[in-house]
Amino acid sequence: MKYVIVCILIFGIVLDTDAQRNSFYTTNKAPLQAQSYTQLPLGAIRAKGWLLKMLELQRNGLTGNLDVLYPEVCGSTNAWLGGNGDAWERGPYWLDGLVPLAYILNDEKLKAKAQQWIEWCINTQRADGYFGPQSPATPLPKIKGIQNSDHEDWWPKMVMLKVLQQYYSATGDKRVILLMSKYFNYMLNTLPRTPLGHWTFWGAQRGGDNLAIVYWLYNITGESFLLELGNLIYQQTTPWKNIFTDGTLATVNPYPQIHCVNIAQGFKTPAIQFQRTGDSSYLQSIKQGLQTLRNVHGFANGMYGGDERLHGNNPTQGSELCSAVEMMFSFESILPITGDVYYADYLEKITFNVLPTQHNDDFTLKQYFQQVNQIKITYDRRNFFNDNYGRIVFGLLTGYPCCTANMHQGYPKYVQNLWYATQDDGVAALVYGASDVTLKVKGNKTISFTEETNYPFESSIRFRYTSKHNAEFPLHLRIPLWCKTGIITVNGVKYADANGGEIIKLNRTWQMNDVVNLELPMEVQLTRWFENSVAVERGPLLYALPLQEQWVKKTNDDFPQPFYEVLPDSPWNYGLPFHVIDKKVFTVTTSAVSDMPWNINNAPVHLTTQAKQLNQWLEYNHSAGPLPSSRTSGNAAKLEMVKLIPYGCTTLRIAQFPVTD
Ligand SMILES: [Zn+2]
Repeated sequence: MKYVIVCILIFGIVLDTDAQRNSFYTTNKAPLQAQSYTQLPLGAIRAKGWLLKMLELQRNGLTGNLDVLYPEVCGSTNAWLGGNGDAWERGPYWLDGLVPLAYILNDEKLKAKAQQWIEWCINTQRADGYFGPQSPATPLPKIKGIQNSDHEDWWPKMVMLKVLQQYYSATGDKRVILLMSKYFNYMLNTLPRTPLGHWTFWGAQRGGDNLAIVYWLYNITGESFLLELGNLIYQQTTPWKNIFTDGTLATVNPYPQIHCVNIAQGFKTPAIQFQRTGDSSYLQSIKQGLQTLRNVHGFANGMYGGDERLHGNNPTQGSELCSAVEMMFSFESILPITGDVYYADYLEKITFNVLPTQHNDDFTLKQYFQQVNQIKITYDRRNFFNDNYGRIVFGLLTGYPCCTANMHQGYPKYVQNLWYATQDDGVAALVYGASDVTLKVKGNKTISFTEETNYPFESSIRFRYTSKHNAEFPLHLRIPLWCKTGIITVNGVKYADANGGEIIKLNRTWQMNDVVNLELPMEVQLTRWFENSVAVERGPLLYALPLQEQWVKKTNDDFPQPFYEVLPDSPWNYGLPFHVIDKKVFTVTTSAVSDMPWNINNAPVHLTTQAKQLNQWLEYNHSAGPLPSSRTSGNAAKLEMVKLIPYGCTTLRIAQFPVTD
């Protein structure tokens, strides 16, 4: 048996050494496994269409102004700027979205805001390699809403390492490499005495984020101590590979509790360490974990019951905004390592459904928890941890302020993952959105593509080669798993049909204005969830019955800053009749796509169908009450025509429907 294992390992290493690696960008260096796709430098990809609009809203809203709107944490008293204030994750969280936003938009004002934090980190690094806030000689008095203890906690540094990595990707500032190399030496010397979980448990649970940067630095410097440090960090990190496979997630209320955001972050950990081991069981554990999460805690929007702790799949449980953006970042980390279409689909699902509904239209308010079946958003009791009742209302600091600081990474990092460099020195588009890209390909040629589309609101995507010179290289395109057959034409001539789940590689000599059209036919698909409720999906979008919204501004003693309740102006308790489900009675209507499509007035697609009110489905604890078990019989209510719109366009909605007769 031992002999067999040794052979497989040797075989793995041989394969690895032979594997092709991208010639132009920072990619895995042996003995790390060759990665399927390689991220491009920050700034190589520019957003267009609605994605650009979201970035501009962020710039004009919370992301561009959090230092002014939330000065007690993101202002000059922050310990990451040398002050006596917050020393923990929230400053770095903000920067983790601000830096990619600044460099994708090429916005000098935003770059300057980020630069002072980066300069402080670099200029105050200690001789022993430690960087970040220093422990004060005597503990600071506690200040409400400020975390000014545990200055040496490993966890917030993990976030700042992500910030510095992105800053380096955009600028090539070599001081970042020196800082990281010295800091990782410090970690190697110090972790045996004060392991990742020494200061807080967050450090151990989120060690995968740290590990990713250690391997990234190894790919730049080749310093062998980094591989040793990688093994040490992996040993001290929560064993997510086991948690995903040992049945822990299959418990409706696991105890000890598992925090929702840590799971989202934990998903990347086995993939990061797979790069070192080449052992496919690391990758299998992620899919097993995601499948279990869906089965026991899953919602139709791609998230899971996680209102602080894992909390089952009733569609009135909450899911946290941090969980959504961290799921996105985990998939953005796993996708280039594996090249697996499954993660690209999952990334789009969270981006197009979960993210747009959890901030308001001008990106000035956020919602800490969202519900899939969300009938009112009020300052009231809910059936989950909801201290001071503020976890569901829209506000700046309502709920808990982690999301206020962490939400900014969502759209910018999605844009940054629209295009990759490939192992065969070409270019890949694996998740879709209107954009431009410029990169180096085979023969050291710099080339550009423009991606024109209103995806996910339309099914066709056009890739136009915009360089003046001809160049020969492959273009990789993903066919999502939800698509039966993708149709590819080049300059109007049929090139190929492709099955869902494939990545198609178009090898050709590209000429100015060559256009590849990718058609991804979207069909209505019905999926089953809690109490056999039905969800209506079409392509990457989930559809929901929207409720008319009335936004009401409020303040109270807990939250002196204004926050918003959202009250329904139309009935909510509808089920879908069995014949609608059985015969898929849905009529698709599309309209023009505005640059801000994510609200009920601008929804660019709707599905018309029939529904019936269910009089026994009542409100409970200010949420939709117990979901009538499908299929409900004896319903005498009349059939009504209703319009379902993309879930991401709704604030109040029903998206998991009981089935009625
Ligand atoms: Zn949060």
